[in-house]
Amino acid sequence: MRSEPFFHTIAELAALLDAGKLSSVELTKAVVARTKAVDARVKAFNSYDEDDALAQAAASDARRSTGQVRGLLEGIPVGLKDVISVANQPLTASSRMLANFISPYDATVTQRLKRAGAVLWGRLNLDEFAMGSSTENSAFGPTHNPWDLSRVPGGSSGGSAAALAAGEAVATLGSDTGGSIRQPAALCGVVGLKPSYGLVSRYGLIAFASSLDQIGPLTRTVEDASIMLGVIAGHDPFDSTSCQTEVPDYRAALAEKRGPWRIGIPQEYFGEGLDPEVGAAVEQAIAFYRSRQCVIKEVSLPHTQYCLDTYYIIATAEASSNLARYDGIRYGHRTAEAVDVGELYCKSRAEGFGAEVKRRIILGTYVLSSGYYDAYYLRAQKVRTLIRRDFLNAYQDVDALLTPTSPVPAFTLGEKTNPLAMYLCDIYTIGANLAGLPAISVPCGFTGGGLPIGLQLIGQPFREAELLPIAHCYEQAHDWHTAHPKL
Ligand code: GLN
Repeated sequence: MRSEPFFHTIAELAALLDAGKLSSVELTKAVVARTKAVDARVKAFNSYDEDDALAQAAASDARRSTGQVRGLLEGIPVGLKDVISVANQPLTASSRMLANFISPYDATVTQRLKRAGAVLWGRLNLDEFAMGSSTENSAFGPTHNPWDLSRVPGGSSGGSAAALAAGEAVATLGSDTGGSIRQPAALCGVVGLKPSYGLVSRYGLIAFASSLDQIGPLTRTVEDASIMLGVIAGHDPFDSTSCQTEVPDYRAALAEKRGPWRIGIPQEYFGEGLDPEVGAAVEQAIAFYRSRQCVIKEVSLPHTQYCLDTYYIIATAEASSNLARYDGIRYGHRTAEAVDVGELYCKSRAEGFGAEVKRRIILGTYVLSSGYYDAYYLRAQKVRTLIRRDFLNAYQDVDALLTPTSPVPAFTLGEKTNPLAMYLCDIYTIGANLAGLPAISVPCGFTGGGLPIGLQLIGQPFREAELLPIAHCYEQAHDWHTAHPKL
């Protein structure tokens, strides 16, 4: 199935590179050629620099030839969502506001990928400032789902998921504030991991909602996700919310931990709005775990009904504050027309931001304004505590929770015109962000029409080493992850 190098996993490619059967330059050339062949249709990339990537690959091959292999990512092309800073490369957040911005420094995750020998390849499309679930909010045009080009790849990390599914990168990084890694992973048939809040540094990530944002990997397999997480995780003094926690060997944990596990099924995640084909695939996955002697236990997360409201108060409040810095003064778009500084702020922001970003700034400013703060923002913070408590209570009886990732498979471009309909895409993913929990989406089947379906497993805080083996166990017994779209 995986004949072309660009459809191989990190683990497979590392073995080929080690054995001298492939060089990083050959691999990178294959990925570049694949990108040139398909990206006019997929549109996963905002930009890429072929010469730069090939120079990184040549440097990697040179290191390898002198025995200086830095790790499993040595020589592997990894794509980054265009909100993660790479020194001297564009950093646009898919916004007109930053259309011409060049990052002056590396994000911590970028530094860590470089230190691990990865070849950084391209800037991947997203919903503007990571606000959306379809990548249609990109100022540069939407990304298309490689499994059906008339459909969305999900979002906001739609470029990261689509590029990976289409063989335009071997692994990618996304960011996840309310589902932006897991939902596009589900819709594109790849693995997506949102780590525990505080495990991966946010330094150098363009901020959307700082108490929810986490960077994480999109990969072909759970093993590759473990490898990527091992590289990017760990304390960083440049991010005050980064935790002082040890980083275990996630990959080794896959072989060590084999269950059986106690798996909780939150009843609130299987109600109205769940597509029957998605529901059936997830039921099959539950049956699989039962067949592996896992204890399947129905659990309740009673505050689930408040997740969406809570998220859209907290996320917009934080966004309105984070996005205040884009005023046309120090960087970003500046209007050509202002007569005074007030007009400069207003026009620069009016011209630079798209409609969804403006909607969020207005909503966020409203919920933080005096007279409304207590009724909305403060109350949402309290409800957030209750939501987190629901999860922690459930974990007294179970090791992980199992749910669908997205209530629906990939929908048609242009189909969801109502913002609330779009927000409902996140209904199963935002809980993990509000509670700070690790959560992974793994492929669990296809619809009759050939669209990928994703299964979500939500773990306990900072227990990625226990969550990943549960996902790995399922993946190893199925071959959904070995299928690739025909482009
Ligand atoms: N779709 C959600 C939103 O629009 C989540 C986005 C994200 O995780 N960045 O806010």
